[in-house]
Amino acid sequence: MSEATGGCHCGAVRFAVELPDEPVPALDCNCSICRKTGFLHIIVPHERLDLESGRDDLVSYRFGTGTAEHLFCRRCGVKSFYQPRSHPDSWSVNANCLDEHVVLAIAPFDGRHWEQAASDLGRDG
Ligand SMILES: [Zn+2]
Repeated sequence: MSEATGGCHCGAVRFAVELPDEPVPALDCNCSICRKTGFLHIIVPHERLDLESGRDDLVSYRFGTGTAEHLFCRRCGVKSFYQPRSHPDSWSVNANCLDEHVVLAIAPFDGRHWEQAASDLGRDG
């Protein structure tokens, strides 16, 4: 475990997060929103992320099944972490929003075919 910090672009949203040892597992999702936002997922249990500032600056966006809650900074528009549908007990942190470079082990996630991809992760939805 190692601690990393990160946040949105303008600095309103700031968090500290406990990451597993490098290379940190990450998912590169090809779904409609991840492709457009360039989001690279590090799945972190809720209790391992500490939101230090910006709670009131987070804006929620939902689509499709509405299960995932996409959280954007209302000032700069950056989605630095959010609640993914695939891991209800975890946040997904954007590796591109960490302050320091971390070595990643990137696996593709076929979010365009979500049900199949999620079951391949060993999840039942
Ligand atoms: Zn911001």
